[in-house]
Amino acid sequence: MAPSKLYGALKAGVKFVKNMTIISTRLLVCGCLLLALLFPVSFICGAAETYDIVIVNGRVIDPESNLDGVRNLGISGGTIRAITETQLTGRMVIDARGLTVSPGFIDLHQHGQNDENYRFKAMDGVTTALELEVGTGDVDRWYTERNGKALINYGVSVGHLAARMAAMHDPPEFLPTGEAARRAATDSEIAEMKSSIERGLRRGAVGVGFGIQYVPQASHWEILEMFRVAARFNASCHVHLRNAGIKEPASSVQALEEVIAAATVTGAPLHVVHVQSTGGKATPQLLKMIAEARGRGLDITTECYPYIAGMTDIKSAIFNEGWQDVFGINYSDLQWAATGERLTKESFERYRKVGGMVAVFSMTEEIVEAALKDPLTMIASDGILDQGKGHPRTAGTYARVLGRYVRERQILTLTDAIRKMTLAPAMRLERRVPSMKNKGRIRIGADADLVVFDAAKIIDRSSYEIPAKYSEGMRYVLVNGVVIVKAGELQEGVTPGQPVRAPF
Ligand SMILES: [Zn+2]
Repeated sequence: MAPSKLYGALKAGVKFVKNMTIISTRLLVCGCLLLALLFPVSFICGAAETYDIVIVNGRVIDPESNLDGVRNLGISGGTIRAITETQLTGRMVIDARGLTVSPGFIDLHQHGQNDENYRFKAMDGVTTALELEVGTGDVDRWYTERNGKALINYGVSVGHLAARMAAMHDPPEFLPTGEAARRAATDSEIAEMKSSIERGLRRGAVGVGFGIQYVPQASHWEILEMFRVAARFNASCHVHLRNAGIKEPASSVQALEEVIAAATVTGAPLHVVHVQSTGGKATPQLLKMIAEARGRGLDITTECYPYIAGMTDIKSAIFNEGWQDVFGINYSDLQWAATGERLTKESFERYRKVGGMVAVFSMTEEIVEAALKDPLTMIASDGILDQGKGHPRTAGTYARVLGRYVRERQILTLTDAIRKMTLAPAMRLERRVPSMKNKGRIRIGADADLVVFDAAKIIDRSSYEIPAKYSEGMRYVLVNGVVIVKAGELQEGVTPGQPVRAPF
């Protein structure tokens, strides 16, 4: 309560106390005791704590405690301090009547890690965006570049691709296009990669990233060697599998066997990225294999995104000879991101020389729905926007799941969807990154990374033609107790994002 208001209340109280003649500062204390008899307890003296922010009357969903009910939340110092049905007092009050309050979404697969990308993530409810598939070769520099400047929380793995590009003296690009994309490594190059991975993990990398399909000449032994390093640090291996699709012998089933074997042999935790875009028609088979391996005690998890097209660099090894057979598609199933045009043999060959992002329409709605409703999958976007160009998943993944697949098609429940976006990804990482135990939950003491959205209206607006469009229906987003989206509007000049990093 403000002092002036308290003084006013005191004065009113004094009228009831005829024998009081002097008002002094000491009377503030006595007066409060007296007023306590006359007014509700929470009204005076800060008998109830005044929080930095309270979020009142919202439907609070917490996947850890299975809470689903109307509650008030009290937030101070960036932390959730109260979850209650009684009234709370706050310096800022967010009225969430009719709205859903959930933990902020944790995206395990977000390549775009700059302000442009963070703004779209925030409007989609993402409070923590992690680049775990490709990762980086220089963990310290990666975190330093974002320190104090980020809208949302951020984190990175150390990448096998980066380690391989460095060992083979490739130009440092996002994905390998030189020697690293084309040939087997020597023993000494493998040894060098191992030491880069170890160096990154010693500097707090969240996990180890793999894009085996981008380096098809990497031997099975090379991958095992990297897993061995990850295992020593309890670091999960986030793997884009060696093969996509159903064509044997180099199928996605075989590729999943490779890394299940690697995880079993070495003990490294395994996370298979975008299972539906790699699996295509084999997605149900991959999900079954993952469930069975888990049943045998293997630490293996997976993720998916809610779109029927993937996106990658046209120059990458994914488009080596025979890609049409692998994906079961043709040139016209490719869409050039920069212009939105569908490709032909001629334009494909022209663009492959220069490189750039291309959308690959290789999935069906049935595949996407099978992946989304499987209890094993987490939601992760695989997003990157570059000056407004890219895949709509960057800006729309989470709102699309909540709007299109939960509300409209009822493929999964709201609670299940929230679990896949919050608790499940937090738990994936918490063995190596204990700070994740305070994310993905609405619990006393948890980080105040929270979203308040309108479940009746939330929907994605980004498209393959216009990928840089904010989702609708996200009313408030808090990162570490700081409001970054307020009444549906992104706030300027706030940078509450903190690093997510393993202890080092
Ligand atoms: Zn990938």
